[in-house]
Amino acid sequence: MKPSLIRRFHLFLEIDSNCWDEELVNDVFNIRDANIILTIPLNNNVEDTWYWRREKLGNYTVKSAYLMIQESKTDQQLEANSGFWRKPWNSEIASKVKNFLCRASSNCLQIKDLLCQKQVQISVMCPTCNAHNETIMHYLVLCSFVASMWSCLNLPLLTGEFSLFPEWLHRVFEQQSTKNVYITVMVCWMLWKNRNDLVWNQHSLDSAGVIESIMSVLNQWRSVQDKTFDHFMGYMTQEDGDGHWNPPSFNSVKINTDATIFKESDLYIHVFVVRDHNGRLIEAESKCRRGTMSPDLAEALSVREALSWLKEKDYGNIVIESDCLQVVQAIRSSFICVSYLGRVVSECHCLLVSLRNKT
Ligand SMILES: [Zn+2]
Repeated sequence: MKPSLIRRFHLFLEIDSNCWDEELVNDVFNIRDANIILTIPLNNNVEDTWYWRREKLGNYTVKSAYLMIQESKTDQQLEANSGFWRKPWNSEIASKVKNFLCRASSNCLQIKDLLCQKQVQISVMCPTCNAHNETIMHYLVLCSFVASMWSCLNLPLLTGEFSLFPEWLHRVFEQQSTKNVYITVMVCWMLWKNRNDLVWNQHSLDSAGVIESIMSVLNQWRSVQDKTFDHFMGYMTQEDGDGHWNPPSFNSVKINTDATIFKESDLYIHVFVVRDHNGRLIEAESKCRRGTMSPDLAEALSVREALSWLKEKDYGNIVIESDCLQVVQAIRSSFICVSYLGRVVSECHCLLVSLRNKT
């Protein structure tokens, strides 16, 4: 594509409208370029900007950058670590927890037993049970206080034949499922944090409180592991995911939007139907356009088409429904997003505001 043509892109818009002149674009460019151009959403008052392609809505996240780097690693790089530590280092355990495990296994934590060996004048007794010397193995595994928590979490605990923490940890990695390994090491890390809170800040430990904080961290950790979870996306409601169509409340209308993509013929179709509180069809509209695009962008364009169409109408209470969860969440999100999808969502926000002001 010639750069001079790109600079004069306004020549390819229809007069007095913010739409591509499809006929002209198809005449001037080859099929591949024309398809790419026609999929670019147009917006009157927004300047060109960079966006991060690894996230749906264009915002940069360390998580997606990390995943990109991991995906680009060769098998040789992934095999670089060897021996026992290969499993923890190559796992998805948080770095701070890996660091903690490494320090705990190499006697680098400031536990009382080790401090006493280094002639620090303190009591060697465990701060929670006051019945045994505080070693790493005692505090994280054997202490009566933490043993009750391990049983509450329903994790198979390896005890008895181990007196040293590295041996116990080694066996956990060897014998437990991946999920149990992750939970076990997260619990060890949380126990250590709570222990430090007790020793340094005199916050008394209550087993129910510790379990609650462990569960909260585990839940957060699970959401981070879920590669489909996107914190830029908006909230969900109980009605989301309902497979049945429900009529709107009395004197309201409901608009259902949908989109279909025909990859082979480079076409996509927007559809929306309007029904009243009795489920009766009031109006319906569909438009077929040229272009190749992702399903969520096509669905977002359908919502935008419906909202734009509504501006000329005089309906009172309106409910808009889409079967694309990502689009619904993106519209509910308060983040300003800069991808193509984000631009279309921003236009939907503007249309929603103007509709709200109108009614
Ligand atoms: Zn103890």
